[in-house]
Amino acid sequence: MDKQMPVLPYANDALEPVVSRQTIEFHYGKHLQTYVNALASLTSGTAYADKSLEDIVRTAPAGAVFNNAGQIFNHVSYFMQFRAPQADNAPKGALAAKIDEAFGSFDEFKKQFAQAAATLFGSGWAWLSLNAENKLVIKQYPNANCPIRDGEKPLLVIDVWEHAYYLDYQNRRADYIAEFWKIINWQVVEKRMK
Ligand code: MN
Repeated sequence: MDKQMPVLPYANDALEPVVSRQTIEFHYGKHLQTYVNALASLTSGTAYADKSLEDIVRTAPAGAVFNNAGQIFNHVSYFMQFRAPQADNAPKGALAAKIDEAFGSFDEFKKQFAQAAATLFGSGWAWLSLNAENKLVIKQYPNANCPIRDGEKPLLVIDVWEHAYYLDYQNRRADYIAEFWKIINWQVVEKRMK
């Protein structure tokens, strides 16, 4: 993954009404840009400058470099997995089979993922990942933490920092989580399994 700003594969208002243009302008345009700028500034002229983003996330000690790198990895994963809202949006093929195998059904998976996102205390992320045994797992990650630091392969993520939903949903995190399912581009998620 690049350490620079990604180009979004959709217009700033394409995710409405699930995620507003204003939220994209602030969350992608300001928050993510700040992490990108901070990492560039912190690593310029250091041994980190030539390392990949993934290497930095895996190896940097707890602190500012790790925090900004982790936030870039998490945010780019988040923004690149979306597309315009669709009714009955669900995974297909190998990913759908893998979810059924791990959780029993897509509905049960959504329930468990939503529960992880809703109960994460404070700021952080809920991730669906493949663990070292190639099993799907749902985990909560506080602050800038992320699955590649634990040797897992990250597939699907929800940002539950308040800045991700406050402009559109204010304090109603559960409503944001319920709407989130409409904008997942499951083909992007499935490609991350490979
Ligand atoms: Mn965020």
